[in-house]
Amino acid sequence: NYSLKQLQQVDAAHHLHPFTDHKELREAGSRIITRAEGPYIFDSEGNEILDAMAGLWCVNVGYGREELARAAYHQMKELPYYNSFFKCSTPTPVLLAKRLAELAPPSVNQVFFGSSGSEANDTALRLVRHFWALEGKPQKNRIISRKNAYHGSTVAGTSLGGMEPMHQQLGGAVPNIVHVMMPYAYELALPGESDHEFGLRAAKAVEDAILEAGPENVAAFIGEPIMGAGGVKIPPMSYWPEIERICRKYDVLLMLDEVITGYGRTGEWFAAQSFGITPDTITTAKALTSGYQPLSALLVGDRIATTLTEKGGEFYHGYTYSGHPVACAVALANLDIIEKEGLVERVKNDTGPYFAQALRERIADHPLVGEVRSFGLMGAIEIVRDKATKERFEGDGRAAVVVRDHAIANGLMLRATGDTMILSPPLIWTRETIDLACERIGKALDLAHKDLFA
Ligand code: PLP
Repeated sequence: NYSLKQLQQVDAAHHLHPFTDHKELREAGSRIITRAEGPYIFDSEGNEILDAMAGLWCVNVGYGREELARAAYHQMKELPYYNSFFKCSTPTPVLLAKRLAELAPPSVNQVFFGSSGSEANDTALRLVRHFWALEGKPQKNRIISRKNAYHGSTVAGTSLGGMEPMHQQLGGAVPNIVHVMMPYAYELALPGESDHEFGLRAAKAVEDAILEAGPENVAAFIGEPIMGAGGVKIPPMSYWPEIERICRKYDVLLMLDEVITGYGRTGEWFAAQSFGITPDTITTAKALTSGYQPLSALLVGDRIATTLTEKGGEFYHGYTYSGHPVACAVALANLDIIEKEGLVERVKNDTGPYFAQALRERIADHPLVGEVRSFGLMGAIEIVRDKATKERFEGDGRAAVVVRDHAIANGLMLRATGDTMILSPPLIWTRETIDLACERIGKALDLAHKDLFA
């Protein structure tokens, strides 16, 4: 048995972490999470922490679900693995694909499985380019994305994403991907511009990029319905319908990355339904299994699927674990829980509106807070030095890190990205859990205010 100190030493010596400064890790030591139950995680010191991030936006049904463990156990005993290459399959991916087709918008009926959101976006990129080649338009291969978007960490995911520091480290992105402005009114709306007008202007940036490249060269536009890692940027309601209209006008495919928003977070099964649009592809992962197994599903619209089927020829793409039987069994059991407990409806009609009201009434007036915003159970708090002028603290996200550290010390796990505090709690949260979270956020903000103005 290792003590905490020993585990931290071994961790620093042998374990390379994702998105981590390893010099800092060595100095500070890692936080070791040892178990979890319902909405709480517990660290090796026995501290109980309310998890306002659902892990990494994924544990939507909460921790400790026996049903999911049982589903994995039974499937492992029956058939732990077989592949879905070369016209083979196993039962669970078949049943899951049918289930997802029933939940998705009507013209989305086919599913390609992988193990992560990044893999699903790689697949999506290759699939849309393959589609246009099959249609006899191989030059139609440019993809339009947004600045500050996050679409994963593989080479294609990083290239699709719009995070500058990631591009710099990559040292050479996949060619023919361009990035336009994000729909972030708090910073980018012009004086006097309404939310509605700003949404249309942000969509117009996509049209401009299509026209600049020539529509005959543009394969698709990709976006997260609500930007997640980029800071829970919620577009005005005018944005997505206008994007869809522009895509249809120029015959550009519409790709939605719903790796975070899929499976209930916005109060519908998919955010496409929240914004009233019908995309050609929907990338999903995370909450598909509530994070209990690694699994992604790329949902493919009829237009692409019909061309694939009618033109034939092999799509030279796939992963050993595409349609993994155990992961798919867990996903089916997870969807059962979401359905049985009415979690999607609960977000839409109860906890989502309550969450918005709680942030507005109990957090927004704090002197450190420039703006609060939320959609369903996805929220953000902007940290500023000056509310009136929106002036930020100096240093790259330093202030948000101070707030985050106080929050964790006071029993609430949330995330800081840039100057933004992010919340993405499990869908099992109740009004009482939201109250508790707001109380702890308030405490963290007060303590951070003292530190930052000391
Ligand atoms: N797309 C979005 C919108 C995400 O938020 C993420 C991960 O956070 C990904 C893609 C990548 O998913 P994964 O980490 O499973 O590869």
